[in-house]
Amino acid sequence: MHSIRWKLLLTYLLITYVPLIFFFNTIMTTIQNHFEEDRAKKLQSSANMIAGSVAKSKYFDNLADESRRTLQNTDLGLRSAQDGYRVMILDNYCTVLNDTNNEDVNKTRIVPEVIKALQFKNAVSVRDDARAIYASASIDNDAGEAVGAVLLISSLQDIYGLVSDINQKLLMYTTLTAVIMGVLVVFASQMLIDPLTSILSVVTKMSDGNLDERVELFGHDEYAVLGQACNVMAAKLQQMDKTRHEFVSNVSHELKTPLASVKVLSESILLQNDVQPEVYREFLQDINSEVDRLVSVVNDLLQLVKLDQGEMGLQVRSVSLNRLIGEIIFRLQPLARQKDLTLKFDYTREVTVECDEVKFASAISNLVDNAVKYTPAKGAVVVTLEADHQNAFISVADTGIGIAEEDQRRIFDRFYRVDKTRDRETGGTGLGLAITYSTVRMHRGSIKIASKENEGSIFTVRVPIHFKGDEA
Ligand code: ADP
Repeated sequence: MHSIRWKLLLTYLLITYVPLIFFFNTIMTTIQNHFEEDRAKKLQSSANMIAGSVAKSKYFDNLADESRRTLQNTDLGLRSAQDGYRVMILDNYCTVLNDTNNEDVNKTRIVPEVIKALQFKNAVSVRDDARAIYASASIDNDAGEAVGAVLLISSLQDIYGLVSDINQKLLMYTTLTAVIMGVLVVFASQMLIDPLTSILSVVTKMSDGNLDERVELFGHDEYAVLGQACNVMAAKLQQMDKTRHEFVSNVSHELKTPLASVKVLSESILLQNDVQPEVYREFLQDINSEVDRLVSVVNDLLQLVKLDQGEMGLQVRSVSLNRLIGEIIFRLQPLARQKDLTLKFDYTREVTVECDEVKFASAISNLVDNAVKYTPAKGAVVVTLEADHQNAFISVADTGIGIAEEDQRRIFDRFYRVDKTRDRETGGTGLGLAITYSTVRMHRGSIKIASKENEGSIFTVRVPIHFKGDEA
């Protein structure tokens, strides 16, 4: 958890301070260069000026005249004191004639700038080692020959001092800002991480099996969305858990009831002596019908399990729905007649869809079966087949007992029956519509119901003509 905070802090420092350091460096170098260049220009022009005035004073014509030299020195001294640089005059043998610092007089100083000046290439350069700028200019006689040179040396100490002063101040402000911003980042990250921590603690509890836990939602930000998603997930898991429990208990119940009947029936014969063969027959018939019931529950369950495996188990091919429905009607016709019901199939055109014939037939068969089963005598069941460019529509309408509004939502649930006692009499397993629903969904279709109690029901199945599979 803490690592996010440190990552944020580190990221902040990296994206803020690394560029800032480069930026400062560039600024400081630019400032320093600017000062140095400015100083160099001034120094060069002073060197030129001094060289000009020395040349004019014919100083080199009377070098033996000591008083001239002193005069010159005084003049140079004044200038140097005023502008803060050292001035030297050298002859063309690089012997120092004048030096405002009085250090090198009569000494030979071989300085590159002086050599260049004697070759008429006035020079100025920054000497990092000496922390100074050297500027030179040649002193020419009337014939235009270089008789000597002026060398100006200006210390850069003041510029360096100024730059380091600015540097120090910038560093101080930057450090201060860094500390303040760092504290703010820690607070901001706290604000970002706290909701995450609370979501995480709830999710941890959920993953430990406490599915009643819920994330508290504040605001409408991404955390709220995440919290909401966790809550929805927990609710779904809870529902799944509940459905699974219900399913297992329903399965047990569905199997237990016929088994208990079989047990009671068989025990009662076993406990009786001298039983008449007719009684045996009657009991065995009852046992047989209970076993039939068990078989049909198990068969339906197996069918649902197969459907739960998904599309993998589907054997899709082109199937004529007219033929498929025709066969279902034909098979149920005797039952309808027996119940005195009209069972009709209406269609206007041939409709072929891509589907798993066996599974789809069983899905439609369940609907027609139910319509016949839940419609009293003299009623009617009409199956209609229609299609547009994309879908086929099969509707099964009956004039039966209908389904109450509140039950309509649940009849597709496994083992759900509106009237438990009556349905058990009719031999239903409560799995038929669940099978139909799963099959239709697997074919990327849908199923709708319109029903009114005591008036009848219409189940309408929509199924795409072309099977879309996973791409849908
Ligand atoms: P069952 O095997 O009990 O028929 P189904 O899943 O096929 O199970 O149907 C679930 C319940 O829906 C039925 O028990 C019945 O109460 C109700 N039902 C289904 N079809 C109809 C219908 N056409 N008319 C009235 N009720 C129906």
